[in-house]
Amino acid sequence: MLKITNPANGQTIAELPDDDAAAIAAKYRAARAAQPGWAATPLAQRLAAIRRFREGIVRDLDKLAAVLTSEVGKPIRQSRNELAGLLGRIDFFLAETEKTLAPRDVFDESGMRERISHEPLGVIANISAWNYPYFVGANVFVPALLTGNSVLYKPSEFATLTGLEIGNLLHASGVSQDVFQVIVGAGAAGSALLAQPIDGVFFTGSYATGSKIAQAVGPRMIKLQLELGGKDPVYVCDDVDVAAAAASTADGAMYNTGQSCCSVERIYVHEKIHDAFVAAFVNEVKGYRIGDPTSEDSYIGPLTRAPQLEVLADQVADALARGAKLLTGGKRIEQPGNWFEPTVFANVNHTMKLMRDESFGPIIGIQKVAGDDEAVRLMNDTEYGLTAAVYSNDRARAERLLAQVNAGSVYWNCCDRVSPRLPWSGLGHSGIGLTLSTYGIETFTRPKAWHLRSA
Ligand code: NAD
Repeated sequence: MLKITNPANGQTIAELPDDDAAAIAAKYRAARAAQPGWAATPLAQRLAAIRRFREGIVRDLDKLAAVLTSEVGKPIRQSRNELAGLLGRIDFFLAETEKTLAPRDVFDESGMRERISHEPLGVIANISAWNYPYFVGANVFVPALLTGNSVLYKPSEFATLTGLEIGNLLHASGVSQDVFQVIVGAGAAGSALLAQPIDGVFFTGSYATGSKIAQAVGPRMIKLQLELGGKDPVYVCDDVDVAAAAASTADGAMYNTGQSCCSVERIYVHEKIHDAFVAAFVNEVKGYRIGDPTSEDSYIGPLTRAPQLEVLADQVADALARGAKLLTGGKRIEQPGNWFEPTVFANVNHTMKLMRDESFGPIIGIQKVAGDDEAVRLMNDTEYGLTAAVYSNDRARAERLLAQVNAGSVYWNCCDRVSPRLPWSGLGHSGIGLTLSTYGIETFTRPKAWHLRSA
């Protein structure tokens, strides 16, 4: 049985039977049998099913947000924001799939025609994370279904009720039970799913799990995408509006209680404005309302997973032992559930875990730098490479710096942002492959090369 716990108060919400290896094998067989029929269904019908799924999200938005908040602890406004943001992603896929899938003739001369078509991969595994279950799930299953694949979807064990809601909505929208299957369970269910003869693995989660999956799947020569963690840096130049930069980067660090793959995790500030920036940043963070995630006023909720409290406490102890200056927060909030104070450190450096290891919580280090060169060097001093941001009033300066930063996404005067129109990818321990943009539609297909001689 899988126990679902409310992270805001530690209470059990539900106990669900989880899928064992035999149940997962049966789901695989059904998905395999159904896939050719789904791929042969006219695209217009697949698009209509996803359009109905979108309508279901709009209709049930408040209920779905409440379920998400109950099991993940996301403040309710942020749960609704996630669902509202999902609509734009679905709209992008609805608008772009037909054009992206259309076969293309790329050569036609002397009776020889060359063409590229896009075939579905077949049956794919979608192993997902809990922190933005609608976003990271739909980045995979929406384009995968639109392009004619069957999907074995394993939501995180921390977002299972949401995963089951997604399944119900898709099934009610005309995607058959066999074409989209929800697998209930934790890591063991994920591993059992990978043991099936699937055609592709699309994983979102931690580097630790991603590297295990890469080892398990590598010899099979199937498509593997890993969207993993980050240690995303921001550099604040000396020419900014300090209050505006502090407000924007504090939100980037603390939104979703710091549990976003693209949360701001490290801040470098030019020495000329360092003290003013730190003061404005701490002021901003002290203004955040911590509390019951079902309340409209709450901005910081509990951590979703209890063990992360230990990770944060360890980063705090390590930073203090190495001379960091604690400006606010720094400890658990002693009440039922997984609560940690929003925490800000200055006087940090890269010997500290806080500046090297993904924190995935409401904690941030701010480091003073002498100038642009030092900032770029420090931003690139990481095993990860998901996103990076520069705040400056000078666009040319920002673009020059961002061109030197090793990251899948770069931001000027913004952060913690994802667009359906742009590819979402990372370097190094942040993963391989991509979702979103038209590349994130093509990625669920196999390009087939046609050489057609007319005589
Ligand atoms: P996780 O690695 O603990 O779990 C992810 C999924 O893998 C879960 O569904 C889990 O049940 C499953 N799993 C665990 N062990 C497995 C195994 N041996 N085989 C197969 N599946 C297994 O990650 P999480 O805590 O759910 O998510 C947080 C992490 O995800 C953070 O590092 C975050 O940065 C990252 N993330 C990345 C992105 C991105 O787009 N790059 C987006 C969201 C989250």
